[in-house]
Amino acid sequence: MGYRINRRKFLGTSAAAAAGTVASGLGGAASASPPGTSARAAGLAPEEGVGPFRKLVIRGGTLIDGTGAAPRGPVDIVVTDNRISQIRDVRDADRNRPPHDADHEVDATGMFVTPGFVDLHVHAGGPPKNALRYPYKLWLAHGVTTVRGVQLASNAHSVAERELSDRNEVVAPRIVNYQRPGAEWGQGPVNNADSARAWVQWARDNGVDGIKIRSGDHMRPDIMAALMDEARRRQLGTVAHLDQRGVEQMNAIQAARLGLGTVTHFYGHFESMLRPGEQLFPDDYNYSDEQVRFSQVADWVNKIHPVGGSQWRAYLDEQLQLGTVFDPTFNIYVASRDVVRMRTAEWHETYTLPSLWEFFRPSNDAHGSYYWDWGTEVETAWKKYYEVWFQLVRDYHEMGGRITTGSDSGFIYQTYGFAYIMELEMLRESGLDPLAVITAATRNGAKTIYEPMGIDDPPIGTVERGKLADILVVPGDPTANQSLDEWERRGGGFKSLYGTGHERVNPETGELERVGGIRWTIKNGVVYDAPSLLADVAAEVEEAKAAGGQA
Ligand SMILES: [Zn+2]
Repeated sequence: MGYRINRRKFLGTSAAAAAGTVASGLGGAASASPPGTSARAAGLAPEEGVGPFRKLVIRGGTLIDGTGAAPRGPVDIVVTDNRISQIRDVRDADRNRPPHDADHEVDATGMFVTPGFVDLHVHAGGPPKNALRYPYKLWLAHGVTTVRGVQLASNAHSVAERELSDRNEVVAPRIVNYQRPGAEWGQGPVNNADSARAWVQWARDNGVDGIKIRSGDHMRPDIMAALMDEARRRQLGTVAHLDQRGVEQMNAIQAARLGLGTVTHFYGHFESMLRPGEQLFPDDYNYSDEQVRFSQVADWVNKIHPVGGSQWRAYLDEQLQLGTVFDPTFNIYVASRDVVRMRTAEWHETYTLPSLWEFFRPSNDAHGSYYWDWGTEVETAWKKYYEVWFQLVRDYHEMGGRITTGSDSGFIYQTYGFAYIMELEMLRESGLDPLAVITAATRNGAKTIYEPMGIDDPPIGTVERGKLADILVVPGDPTANQSLDEWERRGGGFKSLYGTGHERVNPETGELERVGGIRWTIKNGVVYDAPSLLADVAAEVEEAKAAGGQA
């Protein structure tokens, strides 16, 4: 297959921008399209995308459709008015094959095509970290075409941004708006079952798509029960972070029995399997001391019923019967097992804003910046903890449970977009096969968003006829394994999706080269040039450093 495409050029663009040699069409936060102004007007910078089109054709790629089906290709994908209207097998390389009436063509020859990714756990930063436009571009550049904000920003702001995105008037993924109980309704705290139900009704009427519950936020079990019951009646989704302040009263299985949709992070799972008589927290535990709080997490697994044993299976089996979704967000804790790796990740210098970097550094004030004195013992404990957590997720997946992808980036040295790709790598590490990882990232995320609304067949999440055009074109095969003899197609598996690409030695030339990086991200029918998005972010970071004098 002719695969001498110029992948290095894509990365060269961002490197040049980082060096300040490429003029940016936009300038960071100032790049926001004013409300009501269509970003689809002619003459805009390449990172703002082109389209949507009456007829768009993506030619010659190998399709990984998100259903778990084997890759197949080459295919031509025809998009008519933002809907996938045809997927045509290309039996020969006839350059003049129809359709001939496309307004725009994407040449995916030798490349791979997947559905856009769905990130089910995001926050967009805000002061003092970053403006919203910064994560938007990094998400799109890493193939994330839908984000579930839990929360993204305030309700009013999230609703406004969601509408701009739906109209393609801002360079951003699709936005799903989950909010916390009591958010912005101005009628006092949600502190009993009645106020919980009233808030859910208010939320439904004010553009909220679902509820993010954090069990420690004064959430007594009766309040949580009312929230989840009312959410189900009003067709809102639910996701819970069952934190250590509330988990004694409500663990993951108890929440699931009350109708919880998604368990995010690991909180609540292991507490559901605690051996009788075990004390969850050590004597000197203080939740407000984040180094203590995060360093003792790994000890939980010493207090549970045997890993893989009958109680373990019974726990997962009941979750499966209840239809609970596990959204592990493995990546957001990865600094806990190797803080140096995340502090020195190769993308920070070019793509991490100095204000975000400042937030990441060890601190008493910034949430998640808990590694004040993080040594070998605690990292070792976390490495062992990850093994048990991986097994929980793998076992649930193998039993038929739904696993999804969430990044939670903007904390703990995890920069938006890059962290999402790391989540794919870590799902692979947990034991899901590469196609299952793609399905977790695409169809599973879409179903989890749409099912609470009563929609079993979501309009996004797979590349199939009738779906909306959220499609990625990537140079390397993200699912590639070592049995492929066309080494040039591999590009490092999921590493081919990082904006910084994958470094390797070219066996033909002996030269070191960078390959990969997503080539095009198509969201809602608009074609974004991913390297241009990255170049724009690099320029913004460069400007911020120059302005602030900070590295
Ligand atoms: Zn979060």
